[in-house]
Amino acid sequence: MNITSFFNIDDRLLRLDKAALENSQKQFGEIDDIAEFNQLKVLSAFIKNGVSEAVMSGSTGYGYDDRGREILERIMADCMGAEDALMRHSFASGTHTLTVALFGILRPGDRVLCITGRPYDTITGVFGIDSVTDGSLADFGVKYAQVDLLGDGTPDIDGIKAELKREKYKMAYIQRSRGYSTRPSLTISDIEGLVKAVREVSPESVVMVDNCYGEFVERKEPCEVGADLVAGSLIKNPGGGIAPTGGYIAGKKELIEKCAARMTCPGVGREVGATLGHSRELYMGLFAAPHVVGEAVKTAVYTSALFELLGFETSPRPQEKRGDIIQCVTLGSAEGLIAFCQGMQSGAPVDAFVVPEPWEMPGYTDPVIMAAGAFTLGASIELSADGPVREPYAAWMQGGLNFHSAKAGVLLAAQKMLEKGALNIGE
Ligand SMILES: *Cc1c(COP(=O)(O)O)cnc(C)c1O
Repeated sequence: MNITSFFNIDDRLLRLDKAALENSQKQFGEIDDIAEFNQLKVLSAFIKNGVSEAVMSGSTGYGYDDRGREILERIMADCMGAEDALMRHSFASGTHTLTVALFGILRPGDRVLCITGRPYDTITGVFGIDSVTDGSLADFGVKYAQVDLLGDGTPDIDGIKAELKREKYKMAYIQRSRGYSTRPSLTISDIEGLVKAVREVSPESVVMVDNCYGEFVERKEPCEVGADLVAGSLIKNPGGGIAPTGGYIAGKKELIEKCAARMTCPGVGREVGATLGHSRELYMGLFAAPHVVGEAVKTAVYTSALFELLGFETSPRPQEKRGDIIQCVTLGSAEGLIAFCQGMQSGAPVDAFVVPEPWEMPGYTDPVIMAAGAFTLGASIELSADGPVREPYAAWMQGGLNFHSAKAGVLLAAQKMLEKGALNIGE
């Protein structure tokens, strides 16, 4: 390995790099197996649905009868193990996509129960949890409640059942990924357990999963273990680093129709929406996604192994089972967190010359520092790291279009910490 032909990395770090790689080999084998399984799942969906080069050319105006759009949505449904799906470049973000799904299903007076604790920062404003945000579900009279996670960060199955017995809920909402929290991500088998618990007590509740960062990490997706609806972002896993923007919703046919009525307009639904020139990118991205997700998970495992050797707390630990592509490294100080992000940025293919600083990001409650030298602005399937500058000064990093370049980014993050005196390593 001759990273030193290109980058200046301390010898002590290089020895730990070698050890971290050795410690990761067993996980890498399993990651390859999952990536191959999911690649074949996606490939067979492409074949089954009859993709041709011509359907990817795209439509303009209303976008009526856009065959490429319809075929792509059927492929996505198959990939998610769902009856139906919407997949559009016109979803502005993951939050927008989840918002469309939530407003598609919930009506004034309905109750929604988040069963995995407080949701991702940007979603709190959509529910209107802390205050009745303009245009939020709370503003429209949808009532929100949550069941907090247990002390170890896992769902409180007994508490969930008790609450569903006590009150009638239209929807049980699950967040698969950890977001900016130190709780573990949910595995598919965890989600299966949650679905079972909800069905036992409240069979008529819609089970919706925020699937962000979880797609293709395991062999199954939430709808394959009983979830009714999932949604996610195309600048994360299922866009494969190629989709320039967009989102998807997948699930039961009648629910997807409701979401479609909210996505465009009632009565028109999914029949409109010009794809312009974006179909080809969405097809290519979905096709690339299983492999790219595998590279991202390898990057996460390696980072966990390296930073554990450096004496930091990591979550998940290198050998732990994973439900998403996120790796949390607790760096313990603002200086360490900032150096980590600045070092990672210096190894990015785009904007490597930029020095990131903490800033007040819309939708987030604390200043956030981000390393994101990506081809697509904000794409977190590309190597990126961020963290709110608050205790315990943890960096949440994710992505990596290919392991080789992502590993260099991670080593540069450690190197920058060393230079800033935020690493303690012996000889
Ligand atoms: C990324 C993410 C979202 C959506 O965020 P956007 O930045 O709007 O795409 C929602 N939930 C979770 C858990 C996420 O990781």
